[in-house]
Amino acid sequence: MKVIEHINQAKDTLFSFEILPPLKGATIQSIYDGIDPLMEFKPRFINVTYHREEFIYKERENGLLEKIAIRKRPGTVGICAAIMNKFQVDAVPHLICGGFSKEETENALIDLHFLGIDNVLALRGDSIKTESTFKPHPEGHRYAVELIQQIAEMNDGRYFVDDVQLAPTNFCMGAAGYPEKHFEAMNLSTDLQYLKAKVDAGAEYVVTQMFFDNQKYFDFVDACRAIGITVPIIPGLKPIKTMNHIAFLPKVFHIDFPEALSSELLKCKSSADVNQVGIEWGIQQSKELKAAKVPCIHYYTMSTSDTVKKIASQIF
Ligand code: FAD
Repeated sequence: MKVIEHINQAKDTLFSFEILPPLKGATIQSIYDGIDPLMEFKPRFINVTYHREEFIYKERENGLLEKIAIRKRPGTVGICAAIMNKFQVDAVPHLICGGFSKEETENALIDLHFLGIDNVLALRGDSIKTESTFKPHPEGHRYAVELIQQIAEMNDGRYFVDDVQLAPTNFCMGAAGYPEKHFEAMNLSTDLQYLKAKVDAGAEYVVTQMFFDNQKYFDFVDACRAIGITVPIIPGLKPIKTMNHIAFLPKVFHIDFPEALSSELLKCKSSADVNQVGIEWGIQQSKELKAAKVPCIHYYTMSTSDTVKKIASQIF
């Protein structure tokens, strides 16, 4: 079933979450072990992130360096199929522009379609570590809106390779939104116009980047509505869990901690203290969002479910 159908049929705020494919070498059981504890809250969909290749340099016997591409977390399509089969819950693969030609994207979508996976979160992806700015694949897409256009065309029966008669796909697409602005955007206003372009191209809902100040989400929703973005906007929440997160989350995700939260974090002496603050903050944020009747609360587990479980048990 499509994410938008789950939202439209819901009587109350839904619960959903995101997992990362495990590092290469781990088994599918590690995925199941992360999902199992959260099934009691009846997620209507589970997102699976996509991770691009990384490049490493390996020294050869002749002393020369060889550039090698490695993918540490492969397998999104297979993982989504396994989740749907094991838990009978919809899985939402993240599809990115970076590293893919249009034809490779089309082939990935055909595989998803064969497997009965009719949801995707359509994203641009970030630059890889060896690039200072995002560089599109020469035969691929520069922005998420172009990926959304390609999927919308496939939903219409128009494929990139157009010399054969092909059945239309039926994908429900989500797009990413940034309450604190995407870090590359000139300002929030241009960022919102580009978000509107993604919705106009066919995205049926938006999932936000994590935020720790609900007011930023409420203001973002108001600003979206003011420019005619009418689709559901799902708030994304990430419980802070470790001492490392205090510097890591703002740096990597370009978000701020509100003062009330930073003053609690400054008192923490260990990751256990941070975890406790993260749980309490997450419960408080979730309660307020649920009271505001948001369509769904989407939790970023980053592959550990215990903290999200503690929060969800107070909310759902
Ligand atoms: P876009 O919508 O293309 O926007 C990128 C930037 O370009 C923005 O600054 C925007 O304002 C600007 N822009 C957009 N369109 C235009 C245009 N036509 N002309 C000029 N400027 C334009 N990354 C991964 O690699 N894997 C994942 O699984 C993943 N999951 C994510 C899940 C969520 C919910 C979110 C919020 C992000 C996720 N990301 C993931 C990160 C995401 O790929 C990055 O934030 C990326 O930098 C932007 O992606 P986007 O789809 O928002 O890009």
